[in-house]
Amino acid sequence: MILVQGKGVSTSVAIGPLYFYQRAKSTITRYEIENADAEWERFKAAQAKAIEQLGELAEKARVEAGDEAALLFETHQMMAEDMEYEEAIQTAIQETKINAEAAVTDTAAQFAEMFASMDDPYFQARAADVKDVSNRIIAALTGAVQGGIDSAVPVILAADDLAPSETVQLDKSKILGFITEGGSGSSHTAILARTMGIPAIIGVGDQLKPEYAGKEVIIDGSTGSVTIDADEDTRTMLLRKLEDQKKMREMLEQLKGQPNVSKDGQSVKVFCNIGGPDDVPAVLANDAGGVGLFRSEFLYLNCDDFPSEDVQFEAYKKVLSDMGGKEVVIRTLDIGADKQIGYFNMPKEENPALGNRALRICLNRPEIFHTQLRALFRASAFGKLGIMFPMVTSVWEVREAKKMCDRVKTELTKEGIPFSEDVEIGIMIETPAAVLMSDRLAKEVNFFSCGTNDLTQYTLACDRQNADLGRFYDPHHPAVLRALKMVCDNAHKNGVWVGICGELGADLALTETFLSIGIDELSVSPRSVLPLRQKIREINVAAVKDKVLADLLSDETPL
Ligand code: PEP
Ligand code: MG
Repeated sequence: MILVQGKGVSTSVAIGPLYFYQRAKSTITRYEIENADAEWERFKAAQAKAIEQLGELAEKARVEAGDEAALLFETHQMMAEDMEYEEAIQTAIQETKINAEAAVTDTAAQFAEMFASMDDPYFQARAADVKDVSNRIIAALTGAVQGGIDSAVPVILAADDLAPSETVQLDKSKILGFITEGGSGSSHTAILARTMGIPAIIGVGDQLKPEYAGKEVIIDGSTGSVTIDADEDTRTMLLRKLEDQKKMREMLEQLKGQPNVSKDGQSVKVFCNIGGPDDVPAVLANDAGGVGLFRSEFLYLNCDDFPSEDVQFEAYKKVLSDMGGKEVVIRTLDIGADKQIGYFNMPKEENPALGNRALRICLNRPEIFHTQLRALFRASAFGKLGIMFPMVTSVWEVREAKKMCDRVKTELTKEGIPFSEDVEIGIMIETPAAVLMSDRLAKEVNFFSCGTNDLTQYTLACDRQNADLGRFYDPHHPAVLRALKMVCDNAHKNGVWVGICGELGADLALTETFLSIGIDELSVSPRSVLPLRQKIREINVAAVKDKVLADLLSDETPL
């Protein structure tokens, strides 16, 4: 039995074979070939495999986001079998006698250069497509798995850490749990694990050896333990824990349909965080009251180029319609920092967390913002929409963003396109500046949603991604809790509601505090809805409030 210790970030137990995440290799070997016909056959087989994969992706995109999303993959399919492209590869193999990987790489470079030098921006953008298609063919040639899971059975997935763009491409039905070398409790792998209701163990460093691949592993999110080839007693103990959890879930099922009301009658909305239309069934299955945070950037991470207005419209419309009139808060694009997207062509930054990210990008590149807001307002006709802007620091930013909303509404009116006049506008409170300006910001919006993952990072000047900073990155820090109280007070003075959509919202050790300071909404992963409901229903706010507030604000607050 081998025991590896990390930090658990969601409390369940999972058992399955250990699988190391494969990244497609970016370098290829170049060599001279003897049998050009055999090499050409190798290319044709890889091309056919790539075309088949693209067909599957097109179908997945069609189901998840509509016809326009599928079009991208269909275009890639056509590129993969374009006659001129194929002829250039054939010449390189037959005449220059180089291996297929090298022939595809050279042809991709030639075609990309040709597209990039064209005047028409449409054709310039095709340079990235031809590279993407070629990489897919090369992956098929080398047998590299394109960032995926090549296993017939579900696995416990181990990785150094996963970028958000990698997590969106994973086949979730193949994952029983995650183990990451680095990462932190608010990294996107951890967030994905919570959304899926599966355990994740982070920060195991280099303790997992390649020879463990395929062995049976049991991970326990409540203790952070990773047990490989468990002995009989440990195995029985952990499986019993898994069984207990199942029973607990069954018990929680009975809370469905019950209100989120404390013993003394204070209600709080319990909403969910989602990454896209696929997550809505889990939101409904767990009986949440709405969506408090739709991280719209996952739509952008899922594409090879900017998603068009129609692609976005379809996705937003689907979530709003599927939620059947329940409130859906969609956050405008929040990329930068830990979420980088190649086709945005952002210059490299020394300090990306403090750089051109989120609303800053939208205000600096209004054409991107304009497209997203058009899609959002068009979708507003299909449900109850809230739009919120991330990473706000100043009142002028909010005013500029609202001006863009007004421009979009005027355009839609002129074009005769319907939209709702009741869209709520909100901002995320994620920076100390937004906390300190919350009295003024409250006059600009309908609601605040506290992003405690970033609020902790910026308040404590502590990188949320850095696993070595574990005890310094403390969302329970009184500075963070006092900030939340200040935001609540300023919001309520101005008739604005306040939610928490960071991971802290689901932390049951703080539910009393949140109710005492008057938080109106908690937006959590679907699996956290019922445990949170249970906790809310056990609290008597009137009985604990004075003490909670006195502790929070007293000179004796633990430091
Ligand atoms: C947050 O910062 O708390 C938040 C909800 O946003 P994200 O985790 O996507 O940065
Ligand atoms: Mg954030």
